[in-house]
Parts: sequence; structure tokens; C-alpha cells
Amino acid sequence: MPIEERRALQGKRLQKIVSYVYHNVPFYRNKMQQMDIQPSDIRSVDDIKYLPFTTKQDLRDNYPFGLQAAPQSEIIRVHASSGTTGNPTIVGYTRKDIEIWSECMARCLTSYGVTRDDIFSVAYGYGLFTGGLGVHYGVENLGATVIPASTGNTEKHIRLIRDLGITGIACTPSYALHLAEVMEKMGIDIKDLKLRFGAFGAEPWTEKMRAEIQDKLGIKAYNLYGLSEIMGPCVSYECICQRGSHINEDHYYPELIDPNTLKSVREGETGELVFTTLTKEGMPLLRYRTRDLTTLHSGLCDCGRTSIKMGKIMGRSDDMLIIRGINVFPSQVESVLLSIPECAPHYRLIVDRIDNLDTLTVQVELRPECFGQFDTIEPINDLEKKVSSKLKSVLSIIAKTQVKAPGTIERSQGKSCFVEDRRNSLTD
Ligand code: ADP
Ligand code: ZN
Repeated sequence: MPIEERRALQGKRLQKIVSYVYHNVPFYRNKMQQMDIQPSDIRSVDDIKYLPFTTKQDLRDNYPFGLQAAPQSEIIRVHASSGTTGNPTIVGYTRKDIEIWSECMARCLTSYGVTRDDIFSVAYGYGLFTGGLGVHYGVENLGATVIPASTGNTEKHIRLIRDLGITGIACTPSYALHLAEVMEKMGIDIKDLKLRFGAFGAEPWTEKMRAEIQDKLGIKAYNLYGLSEIMGPCVSYECICQRGSHINEDHYYPELIDPNTLKSVREGETGELVFTTLTKEGMPLLRYRTRDLTTLHSGLCDCGRTSIKMGKIMGRSDDMLIIRGINVFPSQVESVLLSIPECAPHYRLIVDRIDNLDTLTVQVELRPECFGQFDTIEPINDLEKKVSSKLKSVLSIIAKTQVKAPGTIERSQGKSCFVEDRRNSLTD
């Protein structure tokens, strides 16, 4: 859709949703009244700046259904956020919400050529988490065959991938790597598989990780982004160009702000993503602060789409670690580790406080193919020094490195937990 036409559509939808929440959600009516704003003050999408923000804390304060706009009789499904950063938040969906979600999800898959002839396996968790059912309905909407594999039972899943000729898979990027490892152990050659594409998301991942997955599984790996508060997977998706993720902005209107001043940042600069749901009935949200940090890029994409694109998620404003005053995102550590050929993409960061000083320990696995060269302690010590010195030169952080044997760092089936912050459990 041409940009001007879409902006007009967004403006119309925004007016409608603002009036809807004003009349159906006391939380928003009170906020708007306090700010002296009437629904009729919103005339175009530019007026979004007059509207109040919504935070995760607002959702928690109104737990479970306080921000729901539709009556319970219209709600046909409930999901919850995975609770990575605290208590889960509950989201109710109407039938129309589920239809729009499925359509947006089908758009994601279509953008890299998934068709009715494909067999798509969904290896996100099914349940309250939006990943499983969200992608499932998208595959069905498109008319491809869906295999509801869910997580767990990796070997059985791999046999299905081979025997059924599965062509696409959706899961977390870390689980994709785990699949590749197990496949290798089972002696399955990717040449005997029909896998062609993967939709990976629910946790941050890097370009290096993408290269690794593409290489090991012999597929194209595409980013898929979403969050339960706004809908679930489908908020944005990569196209065949693999350069940024197109936002389904006719339904989820994006803004990028400085998390401290709350003012919008210039295009290309990093900021916190904020979404307004333009068509949602169950739990519509105005200017929801995702705490996800990224960049936005407008302009026509080589694939022909006009929708705005977001960069990779650099991290969440609340998973940023502050170690001796230096801001560190786990994804930055990952990039450094993966630039060292002997390091596998399996790692864990342990933050502690010893004698009132923050300490960071980085545990990283050796690549199995390098294992043979590390039969004495010396080369391991050398590699540990090399990793620590690279972390210091690139990120200016002082970290102790522990190189671990392949396969010894726990794998996750859902969202990975790369960080153990022991400072939170200190009692003194
Ligand atoms: P929770 O916030 O409890 O993890 P959700 O299950 O709704 O709840 O997860 C949404 C969050 O997951 C996003 O806000 C984002 O931080 C992360 N996420 C989802 N998709 C991606 C992706 N493709 N890249 C990076 N992070 C992602
Ligand atoms: Zn594109």
C-alpha cells in the first residue's frame, strides 16, 4: 500500500480505537481525562503524541482483566506472556483478534515464499505462550500443512522432519541450533532433508547465529518478532532480503522513543519500541512500551513492501546488565564470542558481587571440532585469556572466561536464559 494511503488508514483506525478504549476501559478514560484529552482531539496519526503511554506495570496493576475492552462473552481465547521478567500478563482475544493475528502471521510466512504446498512444523511451546498457537493458526490460514510438534522430544521431531519431508520450521533460534546438534548425533545428513526455511524469534539473536543456523540446517533463517501484549508472533517479520523486519503497521503502529525522555528518536537511532494496536478488540493498548531496544527504517524495501522495518532487537532495556557501571547486553557478549572460531554459540553469563565489586563470568563451550586440540590445560588457558582480552577490548568489560566442554551448558527448549544474576539474591 502506498505510504500516504496507509497513513490515512492508520489515522482512521487510531481515531476509532481511541474512542473505543475511552468508552470501554476506565483505566484509559481516567488517564485521558487527567491529561485533558478527548477522543475527538485525535484527528490523524500524528496526534498519537498526545496519548498516554501504557507500561508493563499498568498491566500488572490491572491484573488479570482490568485493561480488557471487550466483554468476557466476546473473548474466545486467553494467552499470557512468558514472564521472562516478572509475573505474567494476561491477554484476552476476540474471534476477530484471532483472525487478524492469523492473517498477519500468514503474511510473515508468505514473505519468504511459504505456500500451501509446504509442510511447516511449529516447535514453539504450545500453551499459554503465544508462540505455538500463534504460528499454528498462521500456517493454517495460509493453507500449508501444520505439524504441531511443540517443544521436547527432539529426536522424534527430527525423525518427523525427515520422514514427512517437512520444509519449514518455527522455533527459538537457540532451539534451532539444538536441533542441528541432535541431528548430527543421530547421524542425519541435512542433504536427506527437505527443510528450506525457518521462522525464528522469541529471543534476541545475532547475524553470526543466523549464519550458523543457516549453515548447519541448510536453510534460510528469518526473524520473527512479536509480544503477547500486542498480539504474539507476527508483529514484524523478515522478508526474503533478510535486512530488517517489516512491521505489520496497519495493525500495530510503531514509535521509537528515548526511554528516559520519552521523546521520539530520529530514524536510524536506537530507542525503545512502542506499539499502539490499531484494530484489536480484546485488549487494545495505546502506546505500549515494549522495553525492546532497536532501530526503525522507512523507505521502499527491495522486496517491494512499503512498510516500515525494525532492526534486530539489541536487548530489552531491562535485561541490560550494569557491570561496574558499564552497560552490557548479553547479545553484545554473544557477538564477541562468535567472532572467535573456537567458541560455540552456547554460553552463559554469571554476574555476582564479591567484596562489593560486580564480577562477570562468561562460560562458553568449545566447538566439538576443536575439542581434540584441547586435551591439555594450556591451550584452554590460552583460549580463556583470548576471550577475556577480546571482551575487554571490544566491550570494555572485565570478565573471567571459563571454557567448557561441548554439550555441557544446559540447552533450552523455549526462551533461553543466558544470564544468571546472583546479585539479586544477596542478603547483606
Ligand atoms: P515475555 O516478555 O514474558 O518474554 P512474551 O512471550 O510476550 O513475554 O515475549 C515477548 C518478548 O520476546 C519481546 O518483547 C522481545 O523482548 C522478545 N522477542 C520476541 N521475538 C523476538 C525476536 N525476534 N528477537 C528478539 N527478541 C524477541
Ligand atoms: Zn522487504
